[in-house]
Amino acid sequence: MNLTIKKVAFGLIFFLLTGMYIIFAYYYFSQRDITAKIIVTSIKNDLSELSYVLSKQIKKEPISSARPLLDRKAANNKYLSAIAIFKDDELVMTTEHQYSKIPTASDLYFAPHKSDFVFLNDKSALQGNIHYYQGKLIKNYALVFYFDNEYIKHNFTQAKRDFILFFILIPIIFVAIIWLVIGRLVALPLEVLRQYAYYHSNIPKPFRVREIEYIRASMVQTFSRLDQEKKELYNLARTDPLSGLANRNYLQERVKQIIEESNREQKEFALLFLDLDHFKSVNDSLGHDVGDELLKNIARTIQNILRINDVVARIGGDEFVIVLTHYKEDIELYEIIERIQTQLMKPWIISTFTIQITSSIGVTVYPKDGDDLVSLMKNADIAMYEAKARGRRGYHFFTESLNVKTQEYIALTNAMREALKNDQYELYYQPQNDVKTGVITGAEALIRWKDSNDIFIPPNIFIPIAEQNGFIIELGDWVLETAIKQLNVWEDNDYQLRMSINVAAQQILQRGFVSHLKFLLDTYKVSANKVFLEITESVFLNDSKAVHKTFSAIKALGVKVSLDDFGTGYSSLSYLKTFPIDVLKIDKAFLDDYDTQEGAIFIETIVNMAQTLKISVVAEGIETREQVNYLSSLNCGYYQGYVCSPPVEINTFDRLFNASVVLQV
Ligand code: C2E
Ligand code: CA
Ligand code: CA
Repeated sequence: MNLTIKKVAFGLIFFLLTGMYIIFAYYYFSQRDITAKIIVTSIKNDLSELSYVLSKQIKKEPISSARPLLDRKAANNKYLSAIAIFKDDELVMTTEHQYSKIPTASDLYFAPHKSDFVFLNDKSALQGNIHYYQGKLIKNYALVFYFDNEYIKHNFTQAKRDFILFFILIPIIFVAIIWLVIGRLVALPLEVLRQYAYYHSNIPKPFRVREIEYIRASMVQTFSRLDQEKKELYNLARTDPLSGLANRNYLQERVKQIIEESNREQKEFALLFLDLDHFKSVNDSLGHDVGDELLKNIARTIQNILRINDVVARIGGDEFVIVLTHYKEDIELYEIIERIQTQLMKPWIISTFTIQITSSIGVTVYPKDGDDLVSLMKNADIAMYEAKARGRRGYHFFTESLNVKTQEYIALTNAMREALKNDQYELYYQPQNDVKTGVITGAEALIRWKDSNDIFIPPNIFIPIAEQNGFIIELGDWVLETAIKQLNVWEDNDYQLRMSINVAAQQILQRGFVSHLKFLLDTYKVSANKVFLEITESVFLNDSKAVHKTFSAIKALGVKVSLDDFGTGYSSLSYLKTFPIDVLKIDKAFLDDYDTQEGAIFIETIVNMAQTLKISVVAEGIETREQVNYLSSLNCGYYQGYVCSPPVEINTFDRLFNASVVLQV
């Protein structure tokens, strides 16, 4: 059965009422009988008293003198209508003349088994006898008491009415009171608690009933704890634990709102993708604790620059997304971006270190550059890479042409990998000549790619991309092996040639590079001292123990190292002292300027210094005989350039080599 407080209360009240009804009924009926008995007894007493008095009196006086007595008796007893005396059914006298007939047996009270109440209701008279002697004979007068049935009935009806009044009124009041009390003290509080539990509505006020109050108090306590926990979880799910900024989840939520707002108000907003430049080197050189502290400081600074409606989220190691709203003009937007960048560029002092860091920002504008967070972020990321490509510490707006460029970039990336499987790469060789004799003493291996449409793609296009996406490692391995294989062929033919191979920084610093190199040297049985690895200064940017170890290992194999493009980068002369470099390649840009004073000074300084350090020099991009003569006057060792030959395929190169040797002979 499904019990409810109301049902239980109802049941209780029902039982209580039934009990009360039984008590009331018992009381009512017994009370009625008592009343009836009193009436009957009073009538009987009067009757026997009067018959006795009259029996006495009749000896001295005639019966007719009893009239006043009868009248008095009848008047004194409210339950009587009249008193009459009969002699042998003949009326002798009556107090009321309408009561002049002797009652029949059925009118008379003489059935003691009936209750007095029933009797009073059924019968209308009571009869007694007045005995007297006439000589020796006992004679009888009949003394009849007529009941005032009306009055008696009225009496009982009155009692019944009073009783019924109580009988209904009291229970109703009783029920109402119980109902109210249970309702107010139990049912209502429980309902309030139910609503509180269900809807988490307002906290209910304390209740009177102690047990319910305990429940309320513990519910309030539990709910507030749960609320607190929920809030904490909510925040945890939405904030980046390190910086305390919003995380990707919260960013998603906020941008959704901002997009709706922006649609409503027909206003644009900007989404910025900010990436710190070279943050990794902070982590690597100063440790992650310092890196983390720097990120915290940066987060705080960005947050301070932004206004209340703007959003900043950290979505990756050193990547932040900033949403700027409600700027009036583009100028205002530029100003905010510039303020962010200059603030971040200020030197940070973190646990005794002074750190300077720059940032690159890609900017997209809703709805022009994307209509949801995903496309805005993607395009802002593209724009950010463009900012990096343009020399970092700047910002770049996303444009459709930029997007197209990215698509091309992705296509190229894929094609580049395919090309290796499809054998579309080839090595060309460019002669390196002895300045004095003009003999070809070496070759630089330069990669060529003819794509599936037989279109030649220059290395200046795909090598930087391969360096960016890491494919350079795979491609570089192929170059290294192909070039060493070729060197083996030359050695077999007794060609006295050095092989210069371009190696990207990433490739050479890769774990296992040196052992792979040794493996190739052993496999193809070439003289290690004929192998020249061309590296650029970017290898030294990370001046760590690992770089030194790699160089020592290369040296130990007997392999030589050339420093390529010297003069274009940082060109710190200190590298030449700290790293075991065998060859310096002076960049074409300087040799183009050999006939200007500054150009000449540069070239001569380098050549002299190299001679002191016992480093040989290769001058690149030599296109004229004048340049060769000039180099000769400086006692510069070697040159490389179109004046001899551009990079050519292997057969052409072999022919060139043989011709040059023959010329010498
Ligand atoms: P680099 O290492 O500085 O190579 C020399 C570049 O100068 C070559 O361009 C060559 O064709 C060009 N060159 C040589 N002599 C002259 C000249 O007299 N006049 C002019 N105008 N140019 C001359 P290339 O072959 O287009 O290669 C471009 C760059 O691509 C290379 O510059 C190198 O950085 C990279 N690269 C080429 N092949 C490889 C490779 O196999 N591995 C790696 N990592 N990089 C490579
Ligand atoms: Ca080179
Ligand atoms: Ca070069």
